Amino acid sequence: MFGRLANRLPVFFVPVLLLVVACLLVPRLPELPVDRQELLLNAPYLVTVLGAFLSIHFHRGRPLLALLLLIISYWAFHTYLLGKDLEYTLSETYQAFVFLVPLDIALIALMRERGAFSPVGRARFTFLVVQGGIAYWFFRYNFVSVIPYLAADFGMPGMVTPALFPQPALVFGTICFILTAALALRRQTPIEAGLCGALIAFYIACNRITSPQEHALFSTAGALILMLSVLRDSYNMAFRDEMTGLRSRRSLNESLSGLGRKYAIAMLDVDHFKNFNDTYGHDTGDQVLKMVASKMMAVGCGGKAFRYGGEEFTILFPGRQTADVIPELENIRGAIADYRMAIRDATRPKDSKAGKVQRGTKRESGSISVTISIGVADRSEILTTPEDVLKAADKALYKAKNKGRNMVCS
Ligand code: GH3
Ligand code: MG
Ligand code: MG
Repeated sequence: MFGRLANRLPVFFVPVLLLVVACLLVPRLPELPVDRQELLLNAPYLVTVLGAFLSIHFHRGRPLLALLLLIISYWAFHTYLLGKDLEYTLSETYQAFVFLVPLDIALIALMRERGAFSPVGRARFTFLVVQGGIAYWFFRYNFVSVIPYLAADFGMPGMVTPALFPQPALVFGTICFILTAALALRRQTPIEAGLCGALIAFYIACNRITSPQEHALFSTAGALILMLSVLRDSYNMAFRDEMTGLRSRRSLNESLSGLGRKYAIAMLDVDHFKNFNDTYGHDTGDQVLKMVASKMMAVGCGGKAFRYGGEEFTILFPGRQTADVIPELENIRGAIADYRMAIRDATRPKDSKAGKVQRGTKRESGSISVTISIGVADRSEILTTPEDVLKAADKALYKAKNKGRNMVCS
């Protein structure tokens, strides 16, 4: 359980790094020359414009919304609250934003990506504007009646000192944060992780309103985190296979050209997968491919797993020879053959004939399993280019198929 969680934490690496850097810069802010301090106050706008440009370029509507939301809050805080000393926590503007920003960030994390200027993207933007209008009306005309609730003290002094964050907003925001973080951990996507980091940066910025420079620094960090998440997400789109999370064919082509003088390549193919799809349906087939990919991700010997295409996979082993990697490949083959996947009634064979024709896929009551065949080859005097080795691995794979499948051949 903890091991699995630890494997999923690296998605937060970039946001955490940027937040740490921002924290380290705080003590140096008073040393900044006056012109730099001015520049820092405008940095959130600058980074937001850059981030918005990238979001639009890569058709990412969600980070665009988050950037807009955060820059509006920065502008509002900067315009209405700075220099107001401590009574700012009781102002309408502050209370409205400390509630709405975490809520909207969590909502954005829940949404699916639908593009920046698509009809859905435009509808979401309209929602943000309408929400702003409602919030303005609510806080402008009803604020006095709700302030006792918004500024309530739950008696958690140690928890928030020296922070001045209102406690109801802190509790509500923490729920929104946990939801966003859970989505980031589950989906393993940079955008969700970026939203999480931006939310933390927003929290810190909210507690630094009495220092315009610190407020600007953390607002800049939030925008930077979102901007980098867009870049990382587009990188993943090009080099990762969306369904399995493995590296893509494009990434394989790049890795092939960077191999040294000693390496082995394995080709893997699911056995009788067409039958499997025909029997259990394409969706169950996709679940199987994800399972196969997850077993391949755990490959040792410095192996790098790729989805070659369809139900075919490739593993590159830089610096290894066939004999070194065969035990590792046997482990993967065995782990997949032993894996029992539970199936729901809806996905069981629809007709009895399909249920009987079950070559290559064994079915016990309520569970199914698949096997894979593997071919492996390494670089030699004769096979000098990665393309040659890949072809030889493919030949070995068909040897495994002809010999009866569920085996490793070289
Ligand atoms: P063999 O043991 O000889 O490999 O038999 P096979 O049926 O696996 O061989 P073949 O290559 O003819 O079939 C591959 C099948 O994989 C065809 C296609 O329906 C299925 N397939 C390819 N990509 C996907 C995918 O992304 N999801 C699902 N569910 N099926 C896929
Ligand atoms: Mg195939
Ligand atoms: Mg196959």
